[in-house]
Amino acid sequence: MGRFEGRVAVITGAARGIGFATATRFAEEGASVAVIDLDEEAAAAAAARLAPVDGASAIGVGADVSDAGSVAAALARVVGELGGLHVLVNNAGITRDNLLFKMSEDDWDLVLGVHLKGAFLMSKAAQEHFVAQRYGKILNLSSTSALGNRGQANYSAAKMGVQGFTRTLGIELGPFGINVNAIAPGFIATEMTDATAARLGIELEEFRRLNAEANPVRRVGRPEDIAAAAAFLCSDEASYITGQTLYVDGGATLG
Ligand code: NAP
Repeated sequence: MGRFEGRVAVITGAARGIGFATATRFAEEGASVAVIDLDEEAAAAAAARLAPVDGASAIGVGADVSDAGSVAAALARVVGELGGLHVLVNNAGITRDNLLFKMSEDDWDLVLGVHLKGAFLMSKAAQEHFVAQRYGKILNLSSTSALGNRGQANYSAAKMGVQGFTRTLGIELGPFGINVNAIAPGFIATEMTDATAARLGIELEEFRRLNAEANPVRRVGRPEDIAAAAAFLCSDEASYITGQTLYVDGGATLG
């Protein structure tokens, strides 16, 4: 029996990358999955690539997590079409990297809007269902960049903010049977880190090789590494864990 049998999981930014790998893992373990992404077509295409087990299903929903109206409509659709809501993964993310003196107000607002306000809006909308049923799991995506990363003042602030948000929700929602945790990935090979290589003018394979070489386990991370940790933290096996941030980074932050 899969750990998510009979559960409905919503994963934001799941049309690709870490979100898609997490959606795939949850579906394999029995969940009905809603893939939320900015582009409805991309979300639907990703949902169609999932293989839900018998009795479960998958849908794609286009929504902007930084917009309250869009979030409300998306969750109403998920509950209507999949029949409930048990797990929320706040994964949607963007980067607008620049050194502070070149960082625009728009770069700041966009990044804080998607990561922090997005997690706030999605969690606030989901907790209505979770509190009423006395059950829910929220998982937020932080990053090793929370600890500081040159050129990422906006992203770093958002990702450390996510950790504080996670701790506070852990305290507030624990009494209602809701666990709230975060994962802070290190370097994971996705389009997000591909874009960083392009911005730095480094060949993609060379960029990955350099990151692997500097990592204690001598490889870069794969989306599936994060999906495996996400599945554990959102499962009932982790019901005594809340408010925590788990670094999944091959030991990159060990010093
Ligand atoms: P990715 O490949 O860039 O995927 C992110 C997805 O989020 C994209 O499909 C994107 O859609 C979507 N998205 C962006 N803004 C959105 C919004 N407002 N509403 C809904 N969806 C939105 O990124 P990833 O590497 O898989 O990263 C996933 C999460 O892990 C992010 O929170 C990221 O910060 C975090 N993380 C990643 C790494 C890494 O090394 N990759 C490390 C640490 C943390 P569009 O393509 O349409 O923009």
